[in-house]
Amino acid sequence: MCEKHINTKVVNYPDKEGMAEAAKLIREGKLVAFPTETVYGLGANALMANAAEKVYAAKGRPSDNPLIIHLANAEDAKKYCEVTGEFERLAKAFTPGPLTVVMKKKDIIPSTVTGGLDTVAVRIPSHAAARELITLAGVPIAAPSANLSGRPSTTSADHVISDMLGRIDMIIDGGGCDIGLESTIVAIVGENKLKMLRPGAVTLEMLRNEGFEVTLDKAVTEKLSEGEKPAAPGMKYRHYAPVSPVTLIDACDEKRVEFMAKFIGDSSVALVCFEEDVTIKNAKNAVVLGRKDDLAAQAHKLFALLRAFDEKSEIKQIYAPLPDKSGIGLAIFNRMLKASGYSVIRP
Ligand code: AMP
Ligand code: MG
Repeated sequence: MCEKHINTKVVNYPDKEGMAEAAKLIREGKLVAFPTETVYGLGANALMANAAEKVYAAKGRPSDNPLIIHLANAEDAKKYCEVTGEFERLAKAFTPGPLTVVMKKKDIIPSTVTGGLDTVAVRIPSHAAARELITLAGVPIAAPSANLSGRPSTTSADHVISDMLGRIDMIIDGGGCDIGLESTIVAIVGENKLKMLRPGAVTLEMLRNEGFEVTLDKAVTEKLSEGEKPAAPGMKYRHYAPVSPVTLIDACDEKRVEFMAKFIGDSSVALVCFEEDVTIKNAKNAVVLGRKDDLAAQAHKLFALLRAFDEKSEIKQIYAPLPDKSGIGLAIFNRMLKASGYSVIRP
């Protein structure tokens, strides 16, 4: 992991001079963290092999875990990969927005960006700051989430500052991220056929409504056995996890609340619950994720909540509900399952 020796400048979006300087840094092969509608990205010039290497070093990320390239317009994709009709339909329906599409890469994208794969993941973000940065830089921006490898993704500039200060050249503060979970990733696997590699705010249901046949990569919902490879290399790594163990409770609300109630007031245990859990939500050690049916609010809050646990050293165990899998719930389920290291109990 690189040492913390860089003087990191923090600028506020939409500061014009700051944005121009950020774009110049990107062109020169430096690292700039920027807000998107999903999470903060740690950006580098996607056409420079050594810029991508700096990203891996700053994050402490294994270099076989490929980066997503960010473009200002879907039409630009054909410069960097072999675009198909499926991509054009996806782009029309869902971009700019929280969808990443994996396609065969062209030689102009260095293999350091794609972790040695012959495919590249492409996204067109909708956040104004991200779009402005890409346009001003005039190059595609390779960016993973702007967190230290293994930690929850960053959804505010404060999170980025806490992980990346001294490791990167600039942070653009654009406030909180709307969605709060990383983009949906799909690979085009055949005519009209998609495989979802990571769930996000563009849901299975939304893709199927556009007429696509969509399958789910096993790594989204299950622990892979030793030696089994996920289609998105990043899915095999430990992810999103607070320091203290997270255990998910697979039970009806009544049973779950009854189980959690036994720990009310125990400061070594944190209880993640819903607004509707009236018997526990006001306990000192309870943390409310949101209303049970408001999945967007839960997604928005999840990473900040997981990060906050690391600031309370007295917490030795975190209990949380096993999320519902419909809509963006599948993305919450996937992140929570990984945060728990697949630890699920049925009281
Ligand atoms: P992050 O940038 O931290 O949100 O992670 C990016 C995710 O995209 C990782 O899980 C990668 O494994 C995945 N990814 C990036 N490029 C590819 C690709 N060419 N094929 C499959 N997955 C990819
Ligand atoms: Mg990440």
